Amino acid sequence: MADGQSARPRLVFATRNEGKVAELTAMLEGTGWAVERLPPELGEYEETGETFANNARGKALFASAQLGFPVLADDSGLEIDALGGEPGVRSARYIDAALTQSERNGAVLDKLADTPAELRTARFVCHLVLALGDDIVRETTGTCSGSIGFAPRGELGFGYDPIFIVPDLGLTFAEISREQKSARSHRGAAMRAMVEFLRRWTPD
Ligand code: IMP
Repeated sequence: MADGQSARPRLVFATRNEGKVAELTAMLEGTGWAVERLPPELGEYEETGETFANNARGKALFASAQLGFPVLADDSGLEIDALGGEPGVRSARYIDAALTQSERNGAVLDKLADTPAELRTARFVCHLVLALGDDIVRETTGTCSGSIGFAPRGELGFGYDPIFIVPDLGLTFAEISREQKSARSHRGAAMRAMVEFLRRWTPD
């Protein structure tokens, strides 16, 4: 399991989302794992599952079966109560895959134009799967409740961060630092549980 330069075990993140890579890498600092990106030649996994768990399992196994060392995959998204739980598992491509994320955030706000503040409740969900070869080793889930604002705010983060308000702060995820976001976020919660496991686990 050595990577040639150190004896650290290797762990690949099965995502091409740079925002997720940044958050996950920061959370694994100091654990002893050598974190790597998905090799470009691996091909794309098509997300067809109707749950975050199914998509995360599919992504993790697709990569780990080809790579032969541990892979961590997340599937995550935003559930807005006033939209019946949408965008949900379709968060990355919601409304129209061709939209920029900024246009997508605008389109979500348009859909909620007549929804009052108290009915704009939402939650982020993250399901993490650790896989090795053809086996799932560990799964963790995290959620983060909040509400959808009336206009985008902040420049940090990614995805729906500028329209997701954290209740205890009154700020969007795009207005707080990566550390502050991870302390509260769905991915932070799922990752803390996964890190607990990764500190103890050694691949055979
Ligand atoms: P997937 O898990 O790669 O299928 O995509 C999840 C999508 O959900 C992302 O592309 C974002 O649009 C959204 N999302 C997931 N987590 C976050 C987050 O922490 N902040 C903002 N948007 C997120």
